[in-house]
Amino acid sequence: MITENKKIALVTGGSRGIGAAISLALGAEGYFVVVNYNHNESHADNIVNQIIEAGGSAIKIQGNIAESEDCSKMISAVKEKLGKIDILINNAGITRDRSFRKMSLSEWQEVINTNLSSAFNMCSLVVPDMIENKFGRIINISSVIGQSGGFGQTNYAAAKAGLIGFSKSLALETAKYGITVNNICPGFIGTEMVAAMPEDVLKNIVSKIPMNKLGDPNEIAKGVLFLVNSDYMTGQCLNINGGLYM
Ligand code: NAP
Repeated sequence: MITENKKIALVTGGSRGIGAAISLALGAEGYFVVVNYNHNESHADNIVNQIIEAGGSAIKIQGNIAESEDCSKMISAVKEKLGKIDILINNAGITRDRSFRKMSLSEWQEVINTNLSSAFNMCSLVVPDMIENKFGRIINISSVIGQSGGFGQTNYAAAKAGLIGFSKSLALETAKYGITVNNICPGFIGTEMVAAMPEDVLKNIVSKIPMNKLGDPNEIAKGVLFLVNSDYMTGQCLNINGGLYM
């Protein structure tokens, strides 16, 4: 079997930004990494190649996590190729920021489907096998915005806060099977998602971060490795935010 008995980790949106840092860190730690992407195949190729060149194992897989059918196809393909999924990192996410009075129903639904319903889609496909295998690690990448709220982000904050409640409930239901379910709540991290914000808005945000700088994606990857290695921590939120929210 091509997995050489490695544990299999699937990272949604593992091709760019925070997800790419998570994929690389898991690859370096000896996990077999499945790098999911939606639109940009070349980014996924780049991360898979980096993992393999460093001596690790990885494959890419395309799929829109907001679509339950895509998730089904993805998980079936991974199981056919690799046999199982031990670790699921629900990382992929989007923003469609707009003040509430101007927000359209489609902007609301797109963010809820991509950032929250995706966790249902993916977890419902992997949890039954994890229960059978008596092992699983699920890490959902929420956000400080799900804890504090964010101007122009009712859709995003609702989805990210929803992920926290989702994780706690799933943690309760799966704890006795050796499965842990946790959230990481990043603050503002230097990725394309944040680079898309207007410069003055970003400057204002950074001025409010006690550490006075954006976080590095590798800091979130370090949190993932900690949670993957922890047997006794479940239903928790790991806040990695430079002191922005305590
Ligand atoms: P990013 O740089 O915009 O990267 C997003 C990644 O998600 C890409 O790999 C993208 O793949 C993938 N993706 C987007 N929609 C997808 C879909 N429908 N199906 C499958 N993959 C999809 O984002 P990021 O800043 O790294 O953020 C990663 C996660 O951290 C998100 O959940 C975000 O909400 C959360 N977060 C970020 C920050 C921050 O400051 N950056 C703070 C708190 C929380 P393609 O390129 O192929 O589309």
